Amino acid sequence: MSILTLPSQTVGDLTITAVSDGYLHASFDFLANIDPDDASRMQEEAGIADHTSIHINCYLVRGGGRAVLIDAGAGGFKQWGGQLKANLLLAGVQPSEIDAILLTHAHPDHVGGLMDTSGDTVFPNAELLVHHREVAFWQDDGNLIRAPERARGNFLVARQAFDGYRDRLRTFDAGEVLPGMTAVPLPGHTAGHTGYRIESGGQNLLVWGDIVHFPEIQIPCPDVSIAFDQDKHLAAETRTRLLDFASSENLLIAGMHLGQPGFAQVERTGGHYGISYRAPSQKS
Ligand SMILES: [Zn+2]
Repeated sequence: MSILTLPSQTVGDLTITAVSDGYLHASFDFLANIDPDDASRMQEEAGIADHTSIHINCYLVRGGGRAVLIDAGAGGFKQWGGQLKANLLLAGVQPSEIDAILLTHAHPDHVGGLMDTSGDTVFPNAELLVHHREVAFWQDDGNLIRAPERARGNFLVARQAFDGYRDRLRTFDAGEVLPGMTAVPLPGHTAGHTGYRIESGGQNLLVWGDIVHFPEIQIPCPDVSIAFDQDKHLAAETRTRLLDFASSENLLIAGMHLGQPGFAQVERTGGHYGISYRAPSQKS
């Protein structure tokens, strides 16, 4: 029996559950194209008490005879997150029951939870799927040398994860990666940043990865980028294009930094985008 606490949505035969890994913090000094005071005001008006906290979600997709995890949280790296395993158990799933892990990208708040502190893989039976450009980027020593000091540790975390799962690492370019799950390249945040479109029974949902880090700021102001975006201009362009698409298609969205409710829709009113959180269609 699972416990009725985690937000879930049903898409055809599949159940998608938002599994929290906890929080990280990022100063508003990391934001471009907005004054930190304005950023604080927007968080205040949205009712967010801790203005600079960023919530980390992972998503569990169950159905069709398999359990798939999308991203693995920070795993306690820099004291970020670390709650994924406990919350997976709340959803009734042991790490050994995860058959596949899809990565949106390989930043530490998405791959930190793949390995434990003793350097062992947390998910012993899972295949790891990631865009080939993402693996190539983090494995390239030239990129490591060019990276700002602040970002060097990220290479080590990504490399540890790829190395730990090397026997069951599958890279892809685009298209269907698992039955009903299609990779959607969303470049800009990282070279291989990828969303996943999940389709079943004529319904669908898009997991959009790190299109936003502060949804209440970056959805109304898509030009606001964050220092974690490898290519700020491309990230802003991809964000704007996707907000337009999501609002016109009335698409159900899941995102790693959409906050605890985990699922939302983008609404366009008078040329401005806003976020509308979706109530759970099913509790898990
Ligand atoms: Zn992230």
